[in-house]
Amino acid sequence: MVTSLYIHIPFCTKKCPYCHFFVVRNQQDQHAAFTELLLQEWKQKQSLIADKKIISIYFGGGTPLLLGAKNIAKILETIPRGPDCEITIEANPESVTIETLRDLKAAGINRLSIGLQSLNDNELKTLGRTHSSAQAIEAVESAYQCGFDNITVDLLYEIPGQTPESWDATLKQVCQLPITHLSLYNLTFEPNTPFYRKRNALQKKVASQENSLHMLDMAVEALEKIDLKRYEISAFAKDGMQSCHNTGYWRARPFLGLGPSAFSYFEGRRFRNHCNLVKYRNAVKENQDPADFSEKLAYPDNVHELLAVELRLFEGVDLNAFEKQHSPLPTLTYQVLDELKKQGWLEVNERHWRLTEQGTLFYDSIATALI
Ligand code: SF4
Repeated sequence: MVTSLYIHIPFCTKKCPYCHFFVVRNQQDQHAAFTELLLQEWKQKQSLIADKKIISIYFGGGTPLLLGAKNIAKILETIPRGPDCEITIEANPESVTIETLRDLKAAGINRLSIGLQSLNDNELKTLGRTHSSAQAIEAVESAYQCGFDNITVDLLYEIPGQTPESWDATLKQVCQLPITHLSLYNLTFEPNTPFYRKRNALQKKVASQENSLHMLDMAVEALEKIDLKRYEISAFAKDGMQSCHNTGYWRARPFLGLGPSAFSYFEGRRFRNHCNLVKYRNAVKENQDPADFSEKLAYPDNVHELLAVELRLFEGVDLNAFEKQHSPLPTLTYQVLDELKKQGWLEVNERHWRLTEQGTLFYDSIATALI
């Protein structure tokens, strides 16, 4: 049996106005104590996965690099894993230095996820990012020169003020970079963010639906030309470079989350740690479970959700394997699948279901119909 680890490092130098993740202002003097907390939580949970092989570890945040390569190394030293384990860390361009990159490599990190978001300085400013497009390009190139041959970047579209022309310029520059993977998201206005409060004014500057679809097409076309094939709604990769960690989320591989706000999925149960550093710290120090939310969906809600998530993968879902791994789907679900097929959103070959090209545009409606 295989499993994954997600480790949440909440520190950021400044909160971006669109961000809905749990982050806290970076405080250098808290790093050592925070690392100890993570190690203590790992010690508490380790026995849960004692019989499983860890095949991916993901440091997310926040800005995990702010914790420092030494602390990252300290955490990795305690986690038993095979030599082929995918170990990713998210990095903001402004935190990437040659020295840090070398230390991360020595610590065992073998995949970098660099948050470019855009390569247009005005758009970066709108997003409240603290890096420039030149820094972003330099970060990716430096990583490659330091021996990272598995680099993924994040890009955003539907940024207020972004146009097909500025998007085209971003894509052209991205396509010159030595990347193996790319995650593409449209900007959303999440509740409890400054962007959400200003959403009415900001929405007016977002590309029309028609232009937005055009921008998505532009991305798919440009990325395919450099052999980054779309393999999931938001993910593109070169052959063999699909994210092992994220594929686990889509295929229901169990994973443990460490750190405040980290989610876990284990034995069919989902749980999340406190989204509050003090509460998280107190729980871990007192040897208590730091989770403040836990749920186990009952049948058939559980299989519906798993099916909807797995359909995000363009490879599709083999229902023979799916039902063997989870449980048989109710007859009613097959009727829903048939309806979605009639709509032209899903196609089936024997018992293998997958999204059609049109279905990729209506994924949210497909998920709602199934769940
Ligand atoms: S750097 Fe990332 S995690 Fe930090 S505030 Fe900005 S979007 Fe959120």
